Amino acid sequence: MCVAVRDSCAPLLLCHGLSWPDSLDCDRFPADEDMCLASLSKEYKHIHKELPKPICQTCPAVEEFFTQKRVLDVFCANNFAMASGTALIYDDEMTSCKLLWDDPECDIEVPERLLSSYEQLKHYHLVERCIHVPVREGTEEEIMLVHSSEYLEVVKSTQTMNEEELRRVSENYDAVYFHPNTYRCAKLAVGATLQLVDSVISGKVHNGMALVRPPGHHSQRNAANGFCVFNNVAIAAQYAKRRYGLQRILIVDWDVHHGQGIQYVFEEDPSVLYYSWHRYEHQQFWPLLRESDYDAVGQGKGKGFNLNVPWNKVGMGNSDYLAAFFHVLLPVAFEFVPELILVSSGYDSGIGDPEGQMNATPECFAHLTHFLMQLANGRVCAVLEGGYHLKSLSESVCMTVKTLLRDPLPQISGEMAPCLSAVESIQNVRAAHKPYWKCLMYEEATPLHNLSTKSQQMMEAELIQTSTHPTAKQAVGTTNSDEAIKTDRFLESHMKKILFPVPPVKTAAAIVSKADAHLLPISVQVEMEMNAQELKTLVSAFDAELVKEEKALLSLQNVLAVLDKILKKKVCNGIAESSVASVSTTFALKHCFDFGLQRVLCIVVGDMDLELDLDDGKILLMNICQKQQTEKTNSKYHISLNWKEDAGRNNFFCAVLGFILPVAYSYQPDLMIIVIGPNRSLGVNAISLLTCLLQGLAESRILVVIQDTEIKLVQSVAKALSGVSTPDFGAYAPASQENVFEIKQLKDQLQQEWKMLRCSVKDWISGS
Ligand SMILES: [Zn+2]
Repeated sequence: MCVAVRDSCAPLLLCHGLSWPDSLDCDRFPADEDMCLASLSKEYKHIHKELPKPICQTCPAVEEFFTQKRVLDVFCANNFAMASGTALIYDDEMTSCKLLWDDPECDIEVPERLLSSYEQLKHYHLVERCIHVPVREGTEEEIMLVHSSEYLEVVKSTQTMNEEELRRVSENYDAVYFHPNTYRCAKLAVGATLQLVDSVISGKVHNGMALVRPPGHHSQRNAANGFCVFNNVAIAAQYAKRRYGLQRILIVDWDVHHGQGIQYVFEEDPSVLYYSWHRYEHQQFWPLLRESDYDAVGQGKGKGFNLNVPWNKVGMGNSDYLAAFFHVLLPVAFEFVPELILVSSGYDSGIGDPEGQMNATPECFAHLTHFLMQLANGRVCAVLEGGYHLKSLSESVCMTVKTLLRDPLPQISGEMAPCLSAVESIQNVRAAHKPYWKCLMYEEATPLHNLSTKSQQMMEAELIQTSTHPTAKQAVGTTNSDEAIKTDRFLESHMKKILFPVPPVKTAAAIVSKADAHLLPISVQVEMEMNAQELKTLVSAFDAELVKEEKALLSLQNVLAVLDKILKKKVCNGIAESSVASVSTTFALKHCFDFGLQRVLCIVVGDMDLELDLDDGKILLMNICQKQQTEKTNSKYHISLNWKEDAGRNNFFCAVLGFILPVAYSYQPDLMIIVIGPNRSLGVNAISLLTCLLQGLAESRILVVIQDTEIKLVQSVAKALSGVSTPDFGAYAPASQENVFEIKQLKDQLQQEWKMLRCSVKDWISGS
């Protein structure tokens, strides 16, 4: 963080009762001293002149302060674009190691994995939007944060070996090959990962991705394993702890294999939360380890900090992965409050991969990335691990990078209902972790022992004597390449279907007091008042009567100005202040259907009566309010959630993750309207959380209608919608037993209709 800026502004902020860094979006400031505002100010005299003066006696009037803040915001946006950017780390030298002999076990780990990913990034013009950070070699000292010096010497010695010697040393490990360039590439892979961590933690960039080879998550203190030589991500976590003193790091391993190497390094360490889902098939799938199962929760002080979600069958897809995020990873991660997220970003969990044989399509990784970006103030470092179907791999890499760049997400495809086997795994992990996490404290389900996949699995195992290496299926030969071509074709048309032109402006705002415009993030486009005649024409097309009512007409003005731009895809999302939110919302919904939308999710926060026809499923109305509606009966399209906020703390995580998101993803809206009415039972932080997490849906098309003119709320929602940075969600508070009961009741009532709610087998049976 720029010390000069902070020091010059801090006293001023203090005068006005505002605190650094909140008031100045300090995450946009660069970290290095030499990049600071003070040293640049000579070139920007006109701005320097207007910088806050750090003396209390000459403290400017409040209005003046806001002008200055705006000047600073503009300055930062123009000059420190880097600080909000996405790093991409790639060097084609990491393609210089490859398999030199015949080995069906290892021949899928090819240099083309990097080349095709990078080519595809170029194809989508993503490379030029990222900040290029050069690679470096990891030092011996850094490698030894995880590996022994003996092992380091072995890897080093392979540099000068001939093919015969390389083969022999490779045979000492499981599913590994060495090449004379392996040592150099592996050192670059470590260095690239650490460069990414440095760039993100120092604030030079917001997030980023490192495309590296060889991968890392299987390698262990004394052993290479499963194509992995040095454990890039585990080294990065140790490095971040040592160098930056971080105390809570989340590692999300979405590769289809269990990263047992990472588990071994951190299983006794409560400062690193490791989450992995993996193809397991009752221990019949490589690496065939008992400790990959759900009940390996960590050891000693690390108990509860190792989350394994074993997949006991192949074919898991988008809804299974999302269900595991909603019901396992995200609740625990928000409770953990990580300071940094490292992603062991393997794409063999994607469709068409010969290793994983799963069905997740590339946009699924966009959604997973989006959720992680809401944690750790958005500090996400994705590091490539596996991924062996080149097209599937490269499209998924692109979806990840596009999301890190904060583009709106494509709608997720496929039926939104997790399969029985996925729900069984989720239930087991939740039950195993119940003692360690408050978010699971009231979980009623217990571990299942008779899994639906077990008997069939055992029979197959006896019949075929499943091979013990990761690429057993390779032996099938031609059918695999036919499958691969089929996936190529599928992905070619699928990507065309889901990708869409990004609107030129992310967020628009129509607010009552235009004088408050300077309090919004700089990137938000402030809507000017609509021409009265224009408005009348627009309104009379739907409701001639309404035009006569001047007051109603005025309250519609802001809402229509923004909604119209969203529908015409001139902006992604927006906020509108309206004095009569209920009339405006009713009208807005009508406008949506006249425009041709099929499904609108309408979430009302506060007390408000909307007269809507909810039978045809075109509207899903969710009302979050404090008052107990004794008479109410919830139906598929009309849901009431009684919620009372915990004073000063945010207990809404449980409702958003366990209920609202699963319902919203099951419904798959074309647009969302969030209405904040009077007597709202949620605070600013909870509303921001809701707004941020819902943005994965409907291509981020959200209209937030706010009735109370409360600038702090407007600001926070604007921040959430525009994505300039992750807003503050407030301190985590666990849900009370009463809260949990409310959610559970709703789940029982609705899981038959909204299948993403299922997180235990009881749910599945009653809901099937
Ligand atoms: Zn893998």
